[in-house]
Parts: sequence; C-alpha cells; structure tokens
Amino acid sequence: MVVTITETGLPLFILGTGADAHSERGVDCPGELPPASDPTLVERARAAKERLGDRLFVLGHHYQRDEVIQFADVTGDSFKLAREAAARPEAEYVVFCGVHFMAESADILTGDAQKVVLPDLAAGCSMADMATFTQVEECWDALEDAGVADRVVPITYMNSSADIKAFCGRHGGAVCTSSNARRALEWAFERGEKVLFLPDQHLGRNTAVLEMGMSLDDCVVYDPHRPDGGLTPERFEKAKMILWKGHCSVHGRFSAQCVDDVRARIPGVNVLVHPECRHEVVTKADHVGSTEYIIRTLEQAPAGSAWAVGTELNLVRRLGAMFPGKSITFLDRTVCYCSTMNRIDLPHLVWALESLAEGEVVNRITVDPDTAHWARVALDRMLALP
Ligand code: SF4
Repeated sequence: MVVTITETGLPLFILGTGADAHSERGVDCPGELPPASDPTLVERARAAKERLGDRLFVLGHHYQRDEVIQFADVTGDSFKLAREAAARPEAEYVVFCGVHFMAESADILTGDAQKVVLPDLAAGCSMADMATFTQVEECWDALEDAGVADRVVPITYMNSSADIKAFCGRHGGAVCTSSNARRALEWAFERGEKVLFLPDQHLGRNTAVLEMGMSLDDCVVYDPHRPDGGLTPERFEKAKMILWKGHCSVHGRFSAQCVDDVRARIPGVNVLVHPECRHEVVTKADHVGSTEYIIRTLEQAPAGSAWAVGTELNLVRRLGAMFPGKSITFLDRTVCYCSTMNRIDLPHLVWALESLAEGEVVNRITVDPDTAHWARVALDRMLALP
C-alpha cells in the first residue's frame, strides 16, 4: 500500500492504490477495466443499460464528464440526485456517477433492497475528507471543556461523510445544502446560541455574513490539527459561528484577482460564483448561488450577455455549449476540474454496468444501520425546513 503523509498529518493514498473503507480518500478499484482506447465503449455502455432496463437507474452529478453524463437518467446536484434515487423504488441498482458521500446519501434514502454502486471507489471528496468522525468528536470535547457545547447546534453541509451527518443527527443538528444553508442556520439559531458548521468554512461564513447579517468577528475557525482547534474558551464563548477549517479544493482556487482580471478582460461581464468560493471572491461577484441557481441564472440570462462562472469546469463547459447565444467563460484562466469527480470515466462505467448485467454487484456503497438512522434524522430535519 502506498501512503504519503501530508503536511496536515492526514495519510494520503495515491489514487487507485491502498484501501481505507472508512475514509473518503480513495480505495482500490477491483476488476478488469476495459481500456480507455476501446472504440466500442459507448456501444457497450448502451447495450448493458438496455439489458438492465428498469432495474437500473443512473444518476449523474453536474460535475461529471460528458462521456459519463450522456448515460445519466437524471442529472443534478447531490441532494436532488439522492431524492431522485429515493423516488425510484423499482430500481434494483442505482449507479451513482458522483463521489462517495453522495452515494452514501443515496444508500441512506433508498430502500434496503436497492443497491447503490459507485463505479470507482477512488471517487472521494477532499472537502468531506477534511472532517473525520474522530476529529469532530474531539471538537465536541473541546466545546464541552469550554462550557458551550449545550448551546451549540451542529450543521453539516451535504458534502460530508455519513458519519458526520449522523453526528449532527445525534447532537440535535441537521444537514444543509448550498441552497438552504440560510434556512438551516435560522432553524439552528432558534434552538441554540451557536452553530458548529461542518466541513466547509466558506459556505458557513458566506451564509452567516452575507445572508444573515453577522460580522466576520462573529465567526471563528476551528482547526482540527491544533489543540482545541487553536481556540481559547473565551473565543468559543464569544463566537456565534464556529466554522470547521475545511474547504473545496476546486472552488477554493478562485481568487479575488480572478474576478478583477475577468472584469478587465471582458467589460460588462457578470460574475456568477458558488458559495463554496472564498469570502473575498463572493463579495466581489455579482451573483452567488448553488449549482442549480447557477444553471437557472444562465438559462434566464438575456441573449448576448456575458458571464464568468466560478464553479467546476465540466459544468461551465457544458453550460457554454447549452447556451451558445450567451458568452459563458470560466472565472479562472487555469483548468479547474474536480479530480475525484473525474475518476468516474467511461471504462469504469462500462465495467460497473456490464458487471451488473452479469448479475455481479460491484463497488456497492452501504452505510451501517446505526449511522444510517442518525444521518437520516439529520437529513429529515433538513427536509422539514420551511
Ligand atoms: S467539487 Fe469540491 S466539494 Fe464537490 S466533490 Fe469535488 S472536492 Fe468535493
């Protein structure tokens, strides 16, 4: 097994080697993959899909490659896809073209007889990996030692492992998405004085400051790699938002300079970004919103308008092709794909579909019943938000 220790102390598996079923870091992909050069891959995927018929339901996240998304029965963000899976009880196999935490949520929301498959187990999420269960328990201990835990409501972004969702369920908290983060925070502040927001500091900060009128001083950042998160009991006491030190490695790349550069390059351009971007980027943008909001905004934009979009590149390219009458450009000048989303390619999809058509379930994602129960509690609290 090849393992590298990163600066943060987290072991980092070289993708495709090593195995750690309890982490989002990426594990083996067993089986004989067809070569990417096989010219019959599209035909093979179509044939396997046809053989499986209604027993199969393929979900495709917006950030997936075009070669994969063409086989999706439905496309969407992580939450929409998990709900779509739950609405198809007749599908025996749910093939999730996305990343590990999304497949976990689909398993939690689907029936026991339905099998959720992730075509490549190395498709993790670096953000979800930034908050492990042990680290979050240590954080809660620190909150207890500081005498504030009983006034804290934990909220986790959908982009977190099932363990973390279950932690929130057990401690009176909920899950949120980038579309309902404000409503989830309002719900939490009706129940406590402070929120522990996991694992994306940027979504937490942007929502608290830009949508709920809090100040940057109301927010503190808990660093899981420092004793007590690097915070004193006084800072825990003063804070309203305790933000986990996590971020999306894709959206975290956009800088305020990118916004200045694109405005200089394209006069009159509208800058549209995802709230996982850093605060200084979001405050410079013209429009901020979830993936579904970004798609809707571009759909409704007038012909001839110019847009610079700060989100994952597969999606931005696809939107550019969908709306040729509008000028849609990527906010950064460098390439910015989600590398783990890109693990799902045509060879892995063909391998998964052909295996299922042969009656062999590969790369099944399951969540243990206790974790699934508490994660479901946290998800249901989100679903019940007004
Ligand atoms: S885009 Fe960011 S949050 Fe989404 S799967 Fe990739 S690393 Fe995770």
